[in-house]
Amino acid sequence: MLSEERVRVSAAIDNLHESNSSSLEDETEEETYDNHLADSATATLNREIDYTLEENAEHVLAAIDQALGRIEEGTFGTCVRCGKPIAEERLEAIPYATRCIDCQRLAERG
Ligand SMILES: [Zn+2]
Repeated sequence: MLSEERVRVSAAIDNLHESNSSSLEDETEEETYDNHLADSATATLNREIDYTLEENAEHVLAAIDQALGRIEEGTFGTCVRCGKPIAEERLEAIPYATRCIDCQRLAERG
């Protein structure tokens, strides 16, 4: 059971890495094609986008670490706010989710 969750989380991590690296490759390709058009403003913007991607990846990795910790504790897949199980399809999309969709919506609303 635990190892099943682990497999699911690491598969999701792999997917994440794949989509991240492929989008980075696409950007690099475009940059090469449009190189003669690029001005310094575009270059700055691209750097900012790269920086944001990196920050997000670190944030996601930290969240995944927490998810793995929650697997150990046996609380993985349970909403930290209301204690109800998080929907299966939500965990497939976001394996490191700590809240059910209802609580997430409440949190986003503030
Ligand atoms: Zn909840």
